[in-house]
Amino acid sequence: MSGVLYVASLRAHFHTPKGVVHAIDGVSLDIAPGRALGLVGESGCGKSVFARTVMGLLPSYARILPGSELRFQGQDLLALPARQRRALCGPEMAMIFQDPMTSLNPVMRIGDQIMEGMRFHLGTPKSEARARALELLTEVGIPQAEQRLRQYPHQLSGGMRQRVAISIALACEPTLLIADEPTTALDVTVQAGILDLLQREQRARHMSLILITHDLGVVAGRCDEVAVMYAGNIVEHADTAALFARTRMPYTQALLDSIPKLEQPPHQRLNSIGGRPPQLINPPDGCRFAPRCQYADAQCREALPPFIKDIYAGDVYDGDVSGGDACGGQVHGYACWRPLNSAPASANS
Ligand code: SF4
Repeated sequence: MSGVLYVASLRAHFHTPKGVVHAIDGVSLDIAPGRALGLVGESGCGKSVFARTVMGLLPSYARILPGSELRFQGQDLLALPARQRRALCGPEMAMIFQDPMTSLNPVMRIGDQIMEGMRFHLGTPKSEARARALELLTEVGIPQAEQRLRQYPHQLSGGMRQRVAISIALACEPTLLIADEPTTALDVTVQAGILDLLQREQRARHMSLILITHDLGVVAGRCDEVAVMYAGNIVEHADTAALFARTRMPYTQALLDSIPKLEQPPHQRLNSIGGRPPQLINPPDGCRFAPRCQYADAQCREALPPFIKDIYAGDVYDGDVSGGDACGGQVHGYACWRPLNSAPASANS
């Protein structure tokens, strides 16, 4: 697959007074043009650090380890001078952060914030940028857009602020958009509207999208493929329909079991995953999920499972699984010694 974003064996470690945190520890991904990838996992598993690594927003105490590969449309991002790397942010790749109250500039008018990227990166004349900002605000569903252009972030509701943040991200027509838990800070009543808006814009613009969330329910029906992260690495990756139809990783299954079901009887305790994710300073040998996994055995505790890729004929799963390998099959990758659900064929990556 020729990707917009190609990531191989990416390692980002944080040097802290307490030791080296293995925040990203060997992530490999390939995101094709126009595809939406859901990046899912618990808090602290490395999703946001991965997004910041792609955007070049890591803190000064972070180190990318030799052997890591990070390419955007063929360009080696890790070899690009900082200035050229920054120039990609906006017109080529953009990010929407969790909390619009902290990502927007509180002392700058909404209109100026939307116009800024177009003026700076694309050299768009002011009148044209203003007209475009007006169009964008209308497109993302903000009423009285003309009046809103002159307002400040504190004059808008949380949902409106996130719509403004989406307008800013879309202003320069990026090829890749990363949305980092874009609805976490919002009221549940506006979450679905924001997610639907993102999906609509992604499809209309044929953008590649990485939607980061801790909720597998959010990616169902919105993303083409899903990568599940645990303790700094991808532990399962497949087309969305395939991942739901034939979950291989017990961790993914535990995330699925944590989603409340409509048919669940009232007053029944909700499922949760027992224990806590491991410390990423000197992470344990073996599978990092082993202390929390009901299927763990001696092999799981001693050796890190390799990332296996099962290849299926396209008709094995229901739903639209339009990705695939060079042979026309669907690839379902996972890192587990005791995978759930048997598979017809497999090949080591
Ligand atoms: S490798 Fe072992 S401990 Fe890890 S998820 Fe699979 S069964 Fe569980």
